[in-house]
Amino acid sequence: MPTIDEEVKGKRGELLSLLKKLVAIRTDVPPGENYNEIIDFLIPKFEAFGFKCEKVEMPQEVYETRQKQEGLRGERVNLVARRDAKSGAGAKERLTVYTHLDVVPAGSGWHTDPFEATVRDDKVYGRGVADSKGAVACLLTALSVAETLELEQKRDLEVVLTTDEEVGPYSGLCYLADAGFLTGKYFLCMDGDNDGVCVATNGIIVWEAEIFGKSCHSSYSFIGENAIEKANLLLNELMQLKGTIEQRTSKMPCSPFLRELTGIERMRAVFNVTMMNAGVKENVIPERCELRGDRRYLPEEPLEEVLHELEEHFKRATEKHGIRARWEFKPMYPPMFTDPNDSFVEEVRRNASAAFRREMEIIGVQGSLDVAYAVKKTKQKACAFGVGRSVESNAHAPDENVRIDDLLNYTKFLMLSLFNLD
Ligand SMILES: [Zn+2]
Repeated sequence: MPTIDEEVKGKRGELLSLLKKLVAIRTDVPPGENYNEIIDFLIPKFEAFGFKCEKVEMPQEVYETRQKQEGLRGERVNLVARRDAKSGAGAKERLTVYTHLDVVPAGSGWHTDPFEATVRDDKVYGRGVADSKGAVACLLTALSVAETLELEQKRDLEVVLTTDEEVGPYSGLCYLADAGFLTGKYFLCMDGDNDGVCVATNGIIVWEAEIFGKSCHSSYSFIGENAIEKANLLLNELMQLKGTIEQRTSKMPCSPFLRELTGIERMRAVFNVTMMNAGVKENVIPERCELRGDRRYLPEEPLEEVLHELEEHFKRATEKHGIRARWEFKPMYPPMFTDPNDSFVEEVRRNASAAFRREMEIIGVQGSLDVAYAVKKTKQKACAFGVGRSVESNAHAPDENVRIDDLLNYTKFLMLSLFNLD
């Protein structure tokens, strides 16, 4: 009997042609207007393996109130495909396997056609090959190998492929979580990279402040009140807050690649001022100045405390300098945290290490995910392990790529995770 490795390698052509087809279906968002097309392409593929498929559209009223934004067109559809393990085959709790089908726009600077996946030097280039269509091609290939070898499924399977992840804030996955479609005990997120097995992400709050002045002719500026100068006083106070916040670290280590690049050992809390907008003309004292930014908070930081700290600091700073202002904090995605000692996490880590033939670490990442929103709702134990490499794969940049070896290793990782091989 051929080994799993040989079988997976034997499906290399099948995997690459599947990935080519997925990349060619334009799911770049905005506008995200071909979601129906990619899901209609995938449904017969999963049905051929005996999955029961459901195309789930975000209802219009939910879309209108929570997700609608400029530039989006077409239906917001998602795929849920389920297949139970044979009864008596040692079927354990259900596993949700997730990633997203939308991709970010191509942008410029490519050396190949971004929507025509191209093989070059043992890599595939194309928008979405790493983030995250490569994983979908690997999943279907793993199902195909399992069928050839007549392998038993370890658990009942729930494959969830969603849309609008790249634009948020209320992605297809958020809707599926709220509408009760996510029923697995465990949640394997194929979105992400293969740096390590990710169990923690930061939460995110975006903030805005409007600082008020009094407009007048600039030659009599002393009779007015310059909103930019007032904002500068506030900015200095905010930089002190930044200093305090950014000393806080999580107990979760960050990826070994980030550690190597920056020397940072653990997930870190972050506070940023990222936008500033004021003034109409050189000779007009500005009446208002707008500041915006974000706060990335650790899984260990309770949201209420984070909000309280921001509120207090803005209040104290504006009172101290007599600044008239209004401010607002908007919590977006919560942090994600799954116990790194959980047996499911250890199982994923073991399978990932075996498939990639290197010892994987359990890590946290700085960014925020819609998965965090979903599993906060569903209480599923979640971890993320993806097919691409954080730095090398250029996700969200020109020349996005994935190593063919990584695609094959990832297929093997899925085989180990989903099927009984002994
Ligand atoms: Zn992604």
